Amino acid sequence: MFDTMRAGGHESLHFHRDPASGLQAIIAIHDTRRGPALGGCRFITYPDENAALDDALRLSRGMTLKAVLADVPQGGGKAVILKPSGPFDREALFAAFGRLVDSLGGRYISAIDSGTGTGDMAVVARHTRHVTSVSEQLDPSPWTALGVFRGIEAAVSVFLKRADLHGLTVAIQGLGHVGYPLARRLHDAGARLFVADIDSARVARAVQELGATPVVPEQVHATACDVFVPCGLGNILNPQTIPALACRIVAGSANNQLADADCARQLQARGIHYAPDYVINAGGLIFASLQYNGRPQSEIEDKTNRIGETLRRLFQRALAGQVSPHDLAEQMAREVLEGHDQALPDAAEAEQAQTLVAGSGACYR
Ligand code: NAD
Repeated sequence: MFDTMRAGGHESLHFHRDPASGLQAIIAIHDTRRGPALGGCRFITYPDENAALDDALRLSRGMTLKAVLADVPQGGGKAVILKPSGPFDREALFAAFGRLVDSLGGRYISAIDSGTGTGDMAVVARHTRHVTSVSEQLDPSPWTALGVFRGIEAAVSVFLKRADLHGLTVAIQGLGHVGYPLARRLHDAGARLFVADIDSARVARAVQELGATPVVPEQVHATACDVFVPCGLGNILNPQTIPALACRIVAGSANNQLADADCARQLQARGIHYAPDYVINAGGLIFASLQYNGRPQSEIEDKTNRIGETLRRLFQRALAGQVSPHDLAEQMAREVLEGHDQALPDAAEAEQAQTLVAGSGACYR
């Protein structure tokens, strides 16, 4: 396990079970050199415990990179709660999770993610102050949508040399909390929409309100368009889907769009420009972080809008260096983090302090 943590650069892993509520949770803290780890709490059914652990490790690392490039004072962390197979008391479960978060003393700040909502975080908030997204008004999704919109504008200006989105053809996969407000923004900017969702009511709404053309969910990635916008689940860019893509740009909110790092090179080889997911979808993190830190709305707006500028620079550098934006983004984030290494008191000491806590009870770094 320590080899896995060392390879991924993780600081600490916390395993916790609460017999009374049935809670089984893992919190992965990847890196806190730039601030406390902030990341959502997933509540989904995993095939097994290893899959849950892998998710926590992978997603927490992604949060560190995201926070660095969004320039917010946070590190990367993620929580996963294994969904019980039998009946359970949801409120008791999230209360127990809140106590777990509190036991970390602020090193990890929680938020919503797949399978959790603002109601769950409101329960968590009764047990710890280290939580965000605790009410509908604090849902980060519209901010994620704004950041993705700015990212699409940047990609279109750099790669298609277009000054605006008028007449742009866009295929959106997933019309949920992020996909729908993004579709509305794109429609308002004059783009022509192709949309797919496994929830047919959401598609019907987009057809009616935004004049969108429906596409079958299995084929949306193969729609001929300027920009493919994944806003559903992860792993959509894989060896099976990449050869079928018929777009110039991929730019969407979904986390972990690439099945693996080689897929970024496959896209590059096909001449398809990819906006790294953790850069373009950082609007929600910016909102959660700055709101948690008591910063004004104007600063949140300003930083979210700046995602466009960050991506513009990234795309231009990637074009000039003939490298994939994905590889370049990771390199840029690492450079910033390594700058922080200088400030560490003693790297060996920090490594020794990494403690894996298994079983129930308090969690230590
Ligand atoms: P959501 O659950 O509200 O929406 C996802 C939508 O995708 C749903 O409407 C669902 O029916 C649809 N969908 C699922 N499988 C599909 C398929 N095979 N084909 C077509 N549609 C499918 O989630 P969300 O909050 O909108 O997030 C969307 C993505 O963006 C997720 O990957 C999430 O991790 C990521 N993300 C979200 C935020 C945020 O602020 N909400 C921030 C960063 C990243």
